Amino acid sequence: MKRFSMLILGMFITAALLTGCGSDKPSQSSGGTSDLNAIKDRGVLKVGVKVDVPKFGFKDPQTGQIDGLEIDIARAIAKKILGDPNKIELQAVTAKTRGPLLDNGEVDLDIATFTITEERKQSYNFSEPYFTDGVAMMVKKTSGIQSINDLNGKKIGVAQSATSRKSLQEAADKAGVRVQFLEFGTYPEIKTALDAGRVDVFSVDGSILAGYLDDSTVILNDRFAQQQYGVVSKKDNTALANAINEAITEMKNNGELDKLIQKWGIK
Ligand code: GLU
Repeated sequence: MKRFSMLILGMFITAALLTGCGSDKPSQSSGGTSDLNAIKDRGVLKVGVKVDVPKFGFKDPQTGQIDGLEIDIARAIAKKILGDPNKIELQAVTAKTRGPLLDNGEVDLDIATFTITEERKQSYNFSEPYFTDGVAMMVKKTSGIQSINDLNGKKIGVAQSATSRKSLQEAADKAGVRVQFLEFGTYPEIKTALDAGRVDVFSVDGSILAGYLDDSTVILNDRFAQQQYGVVSKKDNTALANAINEAITEMKNNGELDKLIQKWGIK
């Protein structure tokens, strides 16, 4: 009797699965255009951007306006998809939140100094790179630290979920120095910790660090681990990923990307 009911249950599940497969609803993972159509129906592109990275994505505390290279790229993508560069809704993200916000659909894409890595490519779609940088280190001028070789016993402040920790750990291992990491949620917090002497080094991509340079600090010449930034979308949203890639490729080919990089004074 028990065996019989298990059999019936098994048949039920099989039937349910088969019905699901035969459904005429567009499947998200089939490479269909449902993801792109949803954005077109909504009429606005929801973009995750940085608000604490001057020149890339930065919120002016006075005006509340968010601007930077990555916001201009968001406009170009909105123009491509919706025919209007102003149809964007920006949401502040950090290295830690940008993935989860994509996962839960709060943003359609991230343009947020998001480094392309093989590991991350398992979970998300990355566009063609639009910028290349390297991991760098900022120290206080008075610290006497000049290179990775001076870091034995030092504390390094990095952002949570960033590539910086792994890159610097590898460089430290190579140089034979022992370092300790402290993780923070945002870049202003790491700079405050550096100013207060709670960390000896602030490490992240050189272009992000440049936004925090002041009279008391210096960015060392060492560069570790190339960082190529890509526009990131949900793994299943293949039609969106294609549209993003078309926009980026166009911007690269017609010189618009170079012009924007110049406009923002990014080296
Ligand atoms: N670009 C690096 C990364 O994706 C640093 C973190 C960040 O982008 O804020 O991990």
